[in-house]
Amino acid sequence: MASIFSKIIAGEIPCYRIAEDEKHLAFLDINPNAEGHTLCIPKTEVDQLFDLSKEDYAALMLFSRKVAQALKKTVPCQRIAMSVIGLEVPHAHVHLIPLNAMEDVTFGKKVQLDPMAMQGLAKRIAENLA
Ligand code: AMP
Repeated sequence: MASIFSKIIAGEIPCYRIAEDEKHLAFLDINPNAEGHTLCIPKTEVDQLFDLSKEDYAALMLFSRKVAQALKKTVPCQRIAMSVIGLEVPHAHVHLIPLNAMEDVTFGKKVQLDPMAMQGLAKRIAENLA
């Protein structure tokens, strides 16, 4: 069965899209730890990040770097954290989380933004892509 992220790639489920290229997609996490919490995924469905080929892994990291730089320009924060979990969705992904305190990356603290705010945020991050 296709992962929820493959359904997003296929356009069957909506997302707050930030960036896309031939092999990757970046969109806002629907249940963010912090404002701007973003997921970067390969379009190829592979469960675990470290099972990606060397080339696909390196390409995802470069794509994530570009998105992280745009995120840093958009959301006031000390730095952008990168985290890999994968316990919920078995489709490799990188979490990019604007970080101001350690609790921003514990996945225990969540923030709520309404759909308009999420849409506006994704658009502003997208506008800051180099
Ligand atoms: P994990 O697999 O543990 O790294 O967590 C998966 C992440 O995907 C969680 O932070 C979820 O909030 C997020 N997530 C799950 N479904 C969606 C969705 N439809 N759109 C955006 N983010 C999602």
